[in-house]
Amino acid sequence: MTAKVIDGTAAAENVLATVKSATQKLVADTGIQPGIAVIIVGEDPASQSYVRSKGKRAEECGFKSETYRLPADTPEADLLALIDKLNKDDSIHGFLVQLPVPDHIDDGKVIQAVDPDKDVDGFNFVNVGRLVTGQLGEAFVPCTPNGSMVLLRRALGAADLSGLNAVVVGRSNIVGKPMAHLLLAANATVTIAHSRTKDLPGLCRTADILVAAVGRPEMIKADWVKPGACVIDVGINRVPAPEKGEGKYKVVGDVAYDECAEVAGSITPVPGGVGKMTVAMLMASTLASACRKAGVEPPSY
Ligand code: NDP
Repeated sequence: MTAKVIDGTAAAENVLATVKSATQKLVADTGIQPGIAVIIVGEDPASQSYVRSKGKRAEECGFKSETYRLPADTPEADLLALIDKLNKDDSIHGFLVQLPVPDHIDDGKVIQAVDPDKDVDGFNFVNVGRLVTGQLGEAFVPCTPNGSMVLLRRALGAADLSGLNAVVVGRSNIVGKPMAHLLLAANATVTIAHSRTKDLPGLCRTADILVAAVGRPEMIKADWVKPGACVIDVGINRVPAPEKGEGKYKVVGDVAYDECAEVAGSITPVPGGVGKMTVAMLMASTLASACRKAGVEPPSY
């Protein structure tokens, strides 16, 4: 079998096009323009690049977009004061603090300080509670698992996963756990695996839907994959690529792509899979927040 490749780049562009046209309609009908703000503390190059991409996408979608670049030694109290200001700003419908923050700032305190109804990252306890209790219409869901679900629905052609076994490898609060709850809400039968799981290959072989969110390059091999399964690879790992030249790197997922693509029914590539969806879903969540405020049904994806 050669798997169908799930094209995250095309899906993300499709989501962004929907967000853009729904934004135009929202502005025309109600005068409400979605507003997003991103706060970054410090100079971490990867975080700076993510923040630039969020700002660029927000402008393309027709949002009001603000970026706050704070020095690495910003006191925690100053950051909390900015969060309080954005919580009260009616023109901002969603905002986030780019993680990680410097060590002297308590990231837990920062996450809980964001108004749950503007918490488009979906990390606040209130949104975690809404997701776990199945109140998806009110919840903001972390963007990476939310985007993974869009890819999954498109690959399987169905929103209802009744009767399907899903295995999620990884139990982080930002990917593994929310992914498992989204799959459960879609009626899949879900198992969460982690570093203490016994016979991980055997467990993975039971999965009609296999989600890898581990952070270990190409850990999942072809003989872990049930023939015909849908494989969603969330992993982003930078590994040496001597074939590209001395000191060069490449990005691979948590799934050994070439061999698993011979067994799976559908599979996301890395790059070009889940990674492209994260920023697109951040825009979708910000639009949803503005729609909720306007009493308008947000688009589905
Ligand atoms: P974490 O490090 O927070 O979690 C990794 C999880 O994998 C843990 O639950 C850990 O188990 C589990 N794990 C580690 N080793 C093994 C093993 N040998 N066998 C089974 N389980 C194992 O990572 P994240 O969830 O934040 O990220 C996972 C991957 O997804 C990373 O590659 C990251 O770069 C990528 N990512 C991609 C995003 C995107 O935009 N596409 C966004 C976020 C992350 P335990 O809990 O027992 O330690």
